Amino acid sequence: MLPIILHNARIYTQIPGQPWAEAVAIAQGRITAVGRDADILALARPETMVYDLGGALTLPGFCDSHIHFHDMAWRRGQMSLYAAASLEALLAQVAAYLPTLPEGAWALGFGWREVDWPQPRFPTRHDLDPITGARPALLWRTDMHAAVANSAALAAAGVTAHTPDPPSGVIDRDAQGQPTGVLRELAINLVRRAIPQPPTAQAEAAILAVAADLNRLGIVAIHDQRMKDHHEEGPLALQRYIRLRDQGRLPLRITCNIEAGNIDHLIALGLRSGFGDEWVRLGHVKLFADGSLGARTAWMLAPFEGEPGNTGMYLTPPAEVAAVIGKAHRHGLAISIHAIGDRANREVLDIFEETLARGSENPPSLPHRIEHVQTIQPADLPRLAGLGLTASVQPIHCADDMVNTDRLWGARGANTYAFRDLLDGGALLAFGSDAPVADPNPWLGIHAAVTRQRVDGYPAGGWYPRQRLTVAEAVRAYTLDAAAAVGQAHQQGRIAPGYLADLIVLDRDPFTCDPAAIPETQVGMVMVGGRVVG
Ligand SMILES: [Zn+2]
Repeated sequence: MLPIILHNARIYTQIPGQPWAEAVAIAQGRITAVGRDADILALARPETMVYDLGGALTLPGFCDSHIHFHDMAWRRGQMSLYAAASLEALLAQVAAYLPTLPEGAWALGFGWREVDWPQPRFPTRHDLDPITGARPALLWRTDMHAAVANSAALAAAGVTAHTPDPPSGVIDRDAQGQPTGVLRELAINLVRRAIPQPPTAQAEAAILAVAADLNRLGIVAIHDQRMKDHHEEGPLALQRYIRLRDQGRLPLRITCNIEAGNIDHLIALGLRSGFGDEWVRLGHVKLFADGSLGARTAWMLAPFEGEPGNTGMYLTPPAEVAAVIGKAHRHGLAISIHAIGDRANREVLDIFEETLARGSENPPSLPHRIEHVQTIQPADLPRLAGLGLTASVQPIHCADDMVNTDRLWGARGANTYAFRDLLDGGALLAFGSDAPVADPNPWLGIHAAVTRQRVDGYPAGGWYPRQRLTVAEAVRAYTLDAAAAVGQAHQQGRIAPGYLADLIVLDRDPFTCDPAAIPETQVGMVMVGGRVVG
C-alpha cells in the first residue's frame, strides 16, 4: 500500500488543542502526520499518492454504536413495509412480492406501523392466509418488538393453541385460545427459529452489500447488536465476520455484542470484552431490561398516559439481570443493557451501583453501557457518569418518536432523549441508529440531535429544544465517543498521528451550513485503513 497525502482540506481532527488541520499523511493504513499543507506536502516521497481535496470538509469516519448489522444483512431482499399506509396496502405489497420468491422460500418482511393506518390494529394470520396460502410468512412490526405470522409459519414452527407463552413473550390468542398470528417480544423467536438459514456465500454477499451501503453513508465502524435471545444469530455472525476479515474483504470495523445466554461459554473459554483486532472484536454482553415505547412495554414508574393499569413490563427479571451483571463484572465482561422506561433505567442503575460497589479482581476494560436510556428521571441522570456508564443513544428515534412520546408519556417527554442533560451530567454519549429499526444515515441522527426536529421541520423551534447539542458534540458522539465506548479512542475517532486512517470527505460543511440542510450531506470519499472504499 503506497503512502498517501490528502491536502488542501478542512480537516476536523478532534485533537485537543489542534481541532483543525489542512493536510494528513497516511502510511500502512494509519495516519502518520497532520498539519499545515506546506509541512505535510514536504513529507512526500516519489511514490506518495497526493490528493488535492479542493478545500472539502474532512471528518473522522462514523461509528454506529447501535446497529443490527447482521440482521440487516439477513433482511436484505425481504419486504420493506414502512411505506404501507394501511392494512390493505400491506396485503397488496405482500401479494406483489410472492411471485418473486423461489419455491418454498418464506415470505419475510419488516416495518409495518399500524398506528399510521386508518384502522390502527395489528394484522393477524387471518388477514395473511388468503394471500399467502401454504407459503410461510413472518412480518415484523417497525420496532421489531412484535410480528405477525401466517398459519403456515405457525405450523412450520409447531406453534399451536397448546404452546405456552415463552418467558418474556406473548402469543396472542383469540376467544377460542387459538393463536392469532401476532407474536410479541421473545415469542417471535419461536417462529424465527424455523426459518431456513441462507447458504454461506449468499449470507456473506449480503453482509458485504450492507457494509458497502453503510460505507457510502460515511460509516467505517459499527457496534453490532444481537437480537433478543436469538441464539443462532451470534455464532453465525461472528464466524462470517472473521472469515471475511481473514480474506481481507471486510470494509468496516465490527465490535460484536454477545447474547447474554452465552455468558457461561465466554467465561469457560476465558474470553474478555475487547478481545480481537481492529477489524473484529468482542464487545458487550447484551441484556434486555424492558420492552419499547411503541409496543407500550417500556417499564415505567408511572402508567402510560390514558392507560392507568399499564406501567409496561420487564423482559428479564431484575434478579436475573443482577446475577448476569455480577457474573460479567467478575469475569472481565462488559454489559450492554437495553433500558427504555424510567423504571427500567432506575432498576439497572441500582444493579450497576451494587455490582460496582462489590468490586472485581477482573473488571472489564470497556465501560458498561445502557442502550437507549430513552426516558430517565432527573434524579437518575447524574448516576450514569458516577458509575462510569456509557449512554448509547439513537437521536433519530427522537425525530421518529416525539409525537408518540407526547401521546404515551405526556410531560415525561421533558426527560426523554435527554442528550444535553446526559452530556452535561458527564456520561459518555455514543450515537447510533438502531437500523433497521430506523434509517442508518448518521446525518439524520446528527440533524435530530442538533435541531430536535424532524426533517420536515416539525416542530418549529424544536421538541424540548433545551436538549439540543452542537454539531461538534453530535459529531463527537458519532465518532470519538463511540470509539471510547468500546475502548478504541486511542486509535479510532480522531484524525491524528497513530490513529487508523478511517476518514470521510464531505460535500458541505455541517458546522456552518443551515442545520436544515444537514440531512442532505453527501459523503464524497470514504477511507478505511487507508483504502478508499466509497
Ligand atoms: Zn436495537
